[in-house]
Amino acid sequence: MISAPSGAGKTTLCRRVVAADKRLRESVSYTSRQPRRGERNNRDYTFVTADEFRKMASRGEFVEWAEVHGNLYGTSRKRLRDLLAKGFDVLLDIDTQGAAQFRRAFPDGVFIFILPPSREALRQRLEGRGANSKADMERRMGNAAREMKNYKNYDYVIVNDVLNDAVSGLRAIIESERLRTARVDRAWIRDNFFY
Ligand code: 5GP
Repeated sequence: MISAPSGAGKTTLCRRVVAADKRLRESVSYTSRQPRRGERNNRDYTFVTADEFRKMASRGEFVEWAEVHGNLYGTSRKRLRDLLAKGFDVLLDIDTQGAAQFRRAFPDGVFIFILPPSREALRQRLEGRGANSKADMERRMGNAAREMKNYKNYDYVIVNDVLNDAVSGLRAIIESERLRTARVDRAWIRDNFFY
């Protein structure tokens, strides 16, 4: 489970790690926001109207959902369940409000926060996103500062300065978490060594 302020470079980081790890998948979220240029339905998000989104939320179809920058975003319970049932580890890119809800539902999830290398870098990355108006940019800078205060509630923090280093850091966390004693196959150990 990954959170970061918009502009921390999280999307690129997640894509790189998912592409390099066959056991890892991203769950495609639902959102009521408009697609940006280059975004594809059901790949980047499933784009729905705010009305459809609210209906889905009232039917309990989201594990968590939140309003972020004036739009609704949610993680589909069915998509998450299907990926886990197939044996994948699932990478979720969700905001800090969603993460707090998620922590209650999945207390043994792994929570990772991505920070940009500096305030200036964050501003430049947000400015580089042509689709954001100036007002939207200012709102996102304010939200970023507020979101970053939550880093203490996460298990790990990665500063995304050099992308390759951030990719290595994230992969190391995922690999280490898979090897935790609590996650190993106890039945396999018992049947092999203690019969
Ligand atoms: P963007 O519109 O820039 O793609 O995403 C804006 C914010 O929404 C990011 O902080 C991202 O983590 C968050 N977000 C994306 N999908 C979800 C989701 O399913 N649930 C929640 N709570 N936040 C999400």
